[in-house]
Amino acid sequence: MSGRRVVLPGVDDTRALGRVLGRMLRAGDLVVLTGGLGAGKTTLTQGIGEGVGVRGPVTSPTFVIARVHPSTVGGPALVHVDAYRLGGALELDDLDLDASVDDSVTVVEWGHGLAEDLSEDRLEVVLDVDPATERRTATVTGIGGRWAGPSTDDATDLLSTLGGTPC
Ligand code: ADP
Ligand code: MG
Repeated sequence: MSGRRVVLPGVDDTRALGRVLGRMLRAGDLVVLTGGLGAGKTTLTQGIGEGVGVRGPVTSPTFVIARVHPSTVGGPALVHVDAYRLGGALELDDLDLDASVDDSVTVVEWGHGLAEDLSEDRLEVVLDVDPATERRTATVTGIGGRWAGPSTDDATDLLSTLGGTPC
């Protein structure tokens, strides 16, 4: 899926984007969130959790590296990782979580450059805040075979319903 940019005027829009993304996701999927402090990474993850259908609350995992949210709908768990304090490539297996990447939806905050080794296929979301206008945007890009081809047209359509434009 080539890049789609969505404008996020308010916090509800960030959550709504998360819900849309969450509904596209399935076991084994990896989402890498990039954006500075306060860009909306945890807010987006809350929406993703709602879309996937997991037990909340999803909160900032800054003081733990990862948290597992079990499904409430018989689907995959959500593994929410904060890589801010991790120095090197992310080794989720070393965290000894009660969930595996293959069986879960994994969302990594601050994962750029760290989480790529977890999966060749990933959904990258870059959250930006324009310092002058405070306008927030998200750019969603699917990488790898999972996000290529007609099977992801639905995902692109869903993003279009949010006003996502190619970029
Ligand atoms: P991060 O995890 O990237 O540090 P958070 O998700 O914790 O950021 O969000 C930081 C603050 O920004 C929160 O108070 C949140 O409600 C707010 N926020 C998130 N998205 C938006 C938005 N689209 N417009 C305005 N405020 C937002
Ligand atoms: Mg956060």
